Amino acid sequence: MSAAGKVVVITGSSRGIGAATARLAAKQGFAVCVNYLTDAQAAAAVVEKIQQEGGRAISLKADVSQEREVVQLFETVDRQLGSLSALVNNAGILKAQMRVEEMDAARLSQIFTTNITGYFLCAREAIRRMSTKYQGTGGAIVNVSSAASRLGSAGEYVDYAASKGAIDTFTIGLAQEVAAEGIRVNAVRPAFIYTDIHASGGEPDRVERIKNAIPMKRGGYPAEVANAILWLLSDAASYVTGALIDLAGGK
Ligand code: NAP
Repeated sequence: MSAAGKVVVITGSSRGIGAATARLAAKQGFAVCVNYLTDAQAAAAVVEKIQQEGGRAISLKADVSQEREVVQLFETVDRQLGSLSALVNNAGILKAQMRVEEMDAARLSQIFTTNITGYFLCAREAIRRMSTKYQGTGGAIVNVSSAASRLGSAGEYVDYAASKGAIDTFTIGLAQEVAAEGIRVNAVRPAFIYTDIHASGGEPDRVERIKNAIPMKRGGYPAEVANAILWLLSDAASYVTGALIDLAGGK
């Protein structure tokens, strides 16, 4: 299905699930904003790859937890890529594995502002552009949640899991709020995907440790998550909103 002429912002797409989604979106015809926080080189490499494959992309640095940076990000996309059609709220973080009684307020605040406030702020900017209420032509939002929202991540990062629980609820509520304004809002809930995020928790090989407890006996790949995200963004999912799709190998 072609998304020619459409524009998508994908937060946190310099690597991992975001980068795989950026490449697939560009292949399907989207002009892509590759957002990142620190790694300009990695973001530039994603853009270069997309251009080599005949697609259109730009990379833009913005911390999604900072309101001013989010506003600037979307204003730059307006100028450089044109009218927004889609948002993938993907930038998410986790911290070193620990129990709840060890967590301090600084950690909790960083997790919640990036994983929750960031998603709200980016969705706000997307709605102001895409909603028919604001003379937009409609669009689609996909929130990258996590199976952690229902599994809980005990002994690892209950704060992260709770932030994803908030995103599930956010998806359901926002989907209803903008359903009559031409915008569909859905979420994917991956788990055990081979990316660098597990190193942030202090266990780069976490998926290998866990994989025998996954019914499919393997971890997942970023491209498998990207496929679901692009389906939700596409017209093939035209009657789907408020849905939470699990990509967790049966777990
Ligand atoms: P990852 O490999 O760690 O990549 C994270 C990306 O987010 C990077 O591009 C990073 O940019 C960017 N980022 C971090 N903080 C940001 C901020 N404040 N503003 C803007 N960008 C920011 O992560 P991933 O595994 O692909 O995960 C992507 C999403 O999937 C997250 O929401 C995660 O919770 C979710 N998820 C992942 C798994 C899994 O097993 N991997 C499972 C369930 C859900 P820089 O590189 O520039 O810092």
